[in-house]
Amino acid sequence: MNEFYLLICIIIIILIALIFFRKKEKKTLGKSPIKATNPYGILLDNLLKQKKGKELTSEQRSIIESNIGLYHWLPKDLIAPWEERIICFLEEFPITFMKREMPTKEMEILVAAEACLLIVNRPLSDYRHLKAIHLWEDEINGNKNARGSATRFEISLSWNYLKQSIKKARDGHNLTLHEFAHLIDFADDGIAQSIPVSRNSKDFKQWQELVNNEHKKLMQAYEGGKNYSIRAYGGYESIKGDKPELFSCGTSAFFERGSRLKRECTAIYNALQEFYGIDPANWRKAE
Ligand SMILES: [Zn+2]
Repeated sequence: MNEFYLLICIIIIILIALIFFRKKEKKTLGKSPIKATNPYGILLDNLLKQKKGKELTSEQRSIIESNIGLYHWLPKDLIAPWEERIICFLEEFPITFMKREMPTKEMEILVAAEACLLIVNRPLSDYRHLKAIHLWEDEINGNKNARGSATRFEISLSWNYLKQSIKKARDGHNLTLHEFAHLIDFADDGIAQSIPVSRNSKDFKQWQELVNNEHKKLMQAYEGGKNYSIRAYGGYESIKGDKPELFSCGTSAFFERGSRLKRECTAIYNALQEFYGIDPANWRKAE
């Protein structure tokens, strides 16, 4: 009989341990290993390894320094991984200018720099499906409201709008970061629903809950006439019920209004901090 009770005790201890383990696991959202899922992704990650220690030219660096507001907030230890990624990006991804003139070196370096800031602590294989970047002079394809767009394979950007949005490091909006965040959201499953992990990831359900909760909070804030760290556009919902803009608008806020996002939307800030592997709320402007 005593053995029977002992067995029951062991089972109870195992069950408690399992519950505890599951709870602990819940806190590590975004820490699941990052895997390249296609041959091009593997090639990109190998290329990044080859470029270890490579630096931009002083001319390229000064273009970034004088145009990208966030450059002055970036911690020094992120400069080297950023530059290595920019070098790979320029080598791998064609940027086409949608007018007769060719894109200038300045345009190319700025698009590459912003796109790589997003993945400064992530693998280059995040862009494994990217085939083309189209740079329009002003509105995209004659559509006055279109300043940027993203599919799983292509990014379109308005150069005139891009120039404005990169200068201001603290307005909470950045066109290039926004569109490339869509690309990352698309990469895992071809769907932009603000969940940047695939359906079979252990983190999928948590991201889903996070998006639903944070979307509700955002809608309540704007319906109550409040100012909010994530733009109102983040509340856009598709007919199917997907919320494709929350991740991209949240990403812009994460980079450009980190402290405020951390205060107002701690859960989203923590998830993005884990996902991007950086902590912009603690970035300080260089003296
Ligand atoms: Zn968008």
